[in-house]
Amino acid sequence: MHVIPENEVSAASINNYITYAPKMIDFLEQQTCLTCTPVQGYADYYPDIEGWKAGGRTMDPSPVDGRKMDYEMLSRLVESPRASKAFSRFSMSILEGVQILAKTPGWQKIFMGIIAGYFKDIPGRLKGPRDRRLTQGNALVAGLYFAAMDKGVELVLESPVTDLIYENNRVTGVVVKGHTQITANKAVIIAAGGFEHNKAMRETYLPQPATFGHSSGVTSNTGDLILAAEKIGAKFGLMNEAWWAPTAITPFGPTVLFSEKSKPGLIIVDKKGQRFMNESITYNSYGDCFYAADQKGHDVFPAYCILDAHYRKKYMFGGVVQGEAMPDFMSKQMIGEGKMLIKADSLQELAQKMGIDYNGLKDTMDKVKKYAASGVDEEFHRGSDAHDTLYGDPEVKPNPCWGPMDQGPYYATQLLLGDLGTKGGLVINLDGQVLRQNDEPIQGLYAAGNSSASIMGSKYPGAGCTLGPAMTIAFKAGHHALGVAV
Ligand SMILES: Cc1cc2nc3c(=O)[nH]c(=O)nc-3n(C[C@H](O)[C@H](O)[C@H](O)COP(=O)(O)OP(=O)(O)OC[C@H]3O[C@@H](n4cnc5c(N)ncnc54)[C@H](O)[C@@H]3O)c2cc1C
Repeated sequence: MHVIPENEVSAASINNYITYAPKMIDFLEQQTCLTCTPVQGYADYYPDIEGWKAGGRTMDPSPVDGRKMDYEMLSRLVESPRASKAFSRFSMSILEGVQILAKTPGWQKIFMGIIAGYFKDIPGRLKGPRDRRLTQGNALVAGLYFAAMDKGVELVLESPVTDLIYENNRVTGVVVKGHTQITANKAVIIAAGGFEHNKAMRETYLPQPATFGHSSGVTSNTGDLILAAEKIGAKFGLMNEAWWAPTAITPFGPTVLFSEKSKPGLIIVDKKGQRFMNESITYNSYGDCFYAADQKGHDVFPAYCILDAHYRKKYMFGGVVQGEAMPDFMSKQMIGEGKMLIKADSLQELAQKMGIDYNGLKDTMDKVKKYAASGVDEEFHRGSDAHDTLYGDPEVKPNPCWGPMDQGPYYATQLLLGDLGTKGGLVINLDGQVLRQNDEPIQGLYAAGNSSASIMGSKYPGAGCTLGPAMTIAFKAGHHALGVAV
């Protein structure tokens, strides 16, 4: 409540989430093979706000054995981003990742166990490189999948819903692929994501200039069901918001730079070579920062991410494994002319290759050197709080987010304002029922997740703020549709 503006989300909606999220987690643990563990040390995203915690709110699902899943079904499960894996290959839970990154006692054993497990899966290795030890989002989806299969749920794939069936003031089913009708015994729950891949909707609803093609959301999320519900009188909310995120385009598609933005040896500049924001700020705030910079006359669509030799050697970037483990010649798919990361021996050459003003960039680099020495970013205060430094390098002093960037070769990529999906959609009540313009529920119709207007408003208080409410409302909607108390 301290983070989200009162005029965006009601206290009742937030209390509803706080009350039912723990019940949803209990239900999830009872009904699936999953256990969920709070991640200590994963800080909330707004450290200067009252009530901030240094960790313990975000939940990590236990790993799931994907060898039990038919390989055809496994390959339909969207693979976790390369950047979330060790060496872009070995799946780690968040808890494991935190221990490995922080080098807590016993981290080597954990790490070696993960790698050994990967190579011991001989049938998996014969089929391909994908790690069948499922973690993070993949573990969550696999846990739900196995539970659904155990309960005899029929899963119908490749069947886009094109419309809702609406009779006698009630939703009674859906139309699939434009012709097949499926009748709902109780209700229809829309959980079809946002409109991140619908260009016209982005141009209509999101701030301008509207970005397109940079979203990391599932490409099939084109807002179809949001539009279908609009046709029967549903109300929209928060349509001008997305879960914004700094994004680079890699050969694997748009890739969110979650941790990269806090590491020393990286800055983000506009076309004039000037910084315009605190790079380490929470990813959702990139939306505000980019549009505010645009208003102030910075040319940031696209912006540019600059790395120095220290960064390249020590840290991953957009799925490119750090140079000390995989030198440039082993990352030819990602580094070189026309590739994701452009390389140059000098700053001047890099500026010329990227079309950035060299003098502006040089001035910026002079300030960077000063900030690295003093540990104080006099312009945007990067590295001044626990959120910023969470993904910094604790071994770099005096500020874990700042390096002098005085050693080439240098690397750069276009830095795009992307997103994890859109935030706006159908307005729902506390049970997930979709509301009409007059706030009366549409009988037989519920919505959860990014198809509904987020209860986080324009903010993103901490990791899990998309999935937590999505799952809590879905849990409530299912019970409400069945007439069962939670
Ligand atoms: C790289 C990355 C990391 C993330 N990390 C986190 C995190 O740590 N914590 C967190 O809380 N969130 C995270 N998110 C965000 C989170 O994954 C999404 O917000 C969340 O998955 C949205 O859930 P959803 O059910 O609304 O939609 P989705 O998970 O997008 O699912 C929507 C589904 O509906 C299907 N669909 C769309 N249209 C139709 C149609 N017409 N008919 C039938 N099906 C349709 C789509 O194919 C898709 O399978 C992350 C996102 C990304 C990209």
